[in-house]
Amino acid sequence: MQKQPTVALIAHDNKKHEMIQWALTNKDALSEFKLCGTGTTAKLVADATGLNVKRYLSGPLGGDQQIGAKVAEGKIDMVIFFWDPLQMQPHDPDVKALLRISALYDVPIATNKRTADYMIGAITGHIPEK
Ligand code: PGA
Repeated sequence: MQKQPTVALIAHDNKKHEMIQWALTNKDALSEFKLCGTGTTAKLVADATGLNVKRYLSGPLGGDQQIGAKVAEGKIDMVIFFWDPLQMQPHDPDVKALLRISALYDVPIATNKRTADYMIGAITGHIPEK
């Protein structure tokens, strides 16, 4: 049997609403994966969808680094990371590090909703209308 892929979910504050809506829209597909995420994002997605989402620390407190470490260990198969392109983040170096480590290990990482749609669509065979 193929192992269940693990998907990490991260959204900066101005993107959390978008992440929740995206997770609700893709709830059926997401229920096929093991889910994890940075602290607040994981809680919000779990509360909204009823899905089980393993919580790491909040992003500014090291959650992005924890997820990056799991990527390096080969324990995360896909990252959905809705970062905020309009606001500086106190943990900007951690954000960059996660992008770098995902590129290094060739782990798919969606940094906006449309890319996330295509990544999930590659698995479900259905890409939602824009
Ligand atoms: P949060 O972290 O889900 O705990 O808010 C996300 C981030 O800012 O990286």
